[in-house]
Amino acid sequence: MALDLVAAAKERGIRYFLISFVDLFGVMRAKLAPASAIRDMSRAGAGFAGFATWLDMTPADADMLAIPDPDSLIQLPWKPEVGWVAADLWMGGQPVAQAPRGVLKRQIAAAKDKGLAMKTGVECEFFLLEAGAHAIADGADRATKSCYDQGALMRRYDIISEICDAMQTLGWGPYQNDHEDANGQFEMNWEYADALVTADRHAFFKYMVKSIAENHGLRATFMPKPFANLTGSGCHAHVSVWREGRNLFEDPEDELGISATCRHFMGGVLRHAEGLAALTNPTVNSYKRINGAVTLSGATWAPGSITWAGNNRTHMVRIPDAGRFEIRLADGAVNPYLLQAGLLAAGLAGLAGSADPGPPLDINMYTHGGSVQARRLPANLLDALRAFEADETLRSTLGESFATAYLRLKHQDWAAYARHLSSWELETTLDA
Ligand SMILES: [Mg+2]
Repeated sequence: MALDLVAAAKERGIRYFLISFVDLFGVMRAKLAPASAIRDMSRAGAGFAGFATWLDMTPADADMLAIPDPDSLIQLPWKPEVGWVAADLWMGGQPVAQAPRGVLKRQIAAAKDKGLAMKTGVECEFFLLEAGAHAIADGADRATKSCYDQGALMRRYDIISEICDAMQTLGWGPYQNDHEDANGQFEMNWEYADALVTADRHAFFKYMVKSIAENHGLRATFMPKPFANLTGSGCHAHVSVWREGRNLFEDPEDELGISATCRHFMGGVLRHAEGLAALTNPTVNSYKRINGAVTLSGATWAPGSITWAGNNRTHMVRIPDAGRFEIRLADGAVNPYLLQAGLLAAGLAGLAGSADPGPPLDINMYTHGGSVQARRLPANLLDALRAFEADETLRSTLGESFATAYLRLKHQDWAAYARHLSSWELETTLDA
């Protein structure tokens, strides 16, 4: 039975609820409702003007209602009198077809119809910047190879430990934190879970990191490539598919420890990668990470081509261990719900068509990628949007209403960028 929010408010001392949803651009929106109103809000939902968010609606549309999912309740660890709940969006008595959490729930239901459940873990990288500037907050964090730098990590102990303690309290099972490959960049890992749980936690994690950083006078950013010469922020996802408590991706007889089911699912992800990139790499800036030049540290750690391998981080898909694969495509800007929805849609299509990923390619793609015939990832957001448009399987599986709304807004995004006059153009073209 679902949790009763009225009772939870009384028992846990919750004074306010954030009734929250993530729109198509990954923006977290909310209304703050006093606990005295949560009974009605749970039934009728909190009202929003859809056009005021990125959901491809019009000002003439009726009220959009956000109905909280009580099972997603999280008390803000840094302000426990506030309870955050993920909400599902409704309009005119129907679920909003393009709402990201709804898109994911439909994919989960489609998997469930086949007796399958996808479990995932995400690795969210982020930078800690000075509050009001485009600059790394720690002036001493300047090493060329700054990955795992203990000194730089411990100078941020207060923030990192506060976030990790919070995850501990929330029962997420955090297990490690580190300084990542770029100066000012960090990563925090917690246990994998069912796709919807991971998506809600991923959405909340971003909000939590930003909030706690702000409380410490800093700014956290998940922007894919905030500094041209440094490694960007990825959001690697570890994927497995389960049936009745058994991991179907595991095969102890296989050289890499992965089953035919894993290969077919992964084959689907590889087959649809160009279109998938429109979701996993959703911003103009995203393509400066996956198609980036070599960074100060010596590697971008991001893929450029659609290939897979064993335990080799230069490919788009890696098999780090038996029973799962890691997809290294998505970046910090990815919508937590659309990441999971896209992977599930592509993977299920792969299973349905017994997609063959071919043999693993165990070469260093950064140095020898040019010697093999491999499909390249889209060069920019426009290429990715066109690939998604052309991918009928992905589009119809995720839903035409969603695809149409997403593509319309993202094309507007691209058009705004294309109209923008950059300093690079002025520098290189004034003397034309
Ligand atoms: Mg990492």
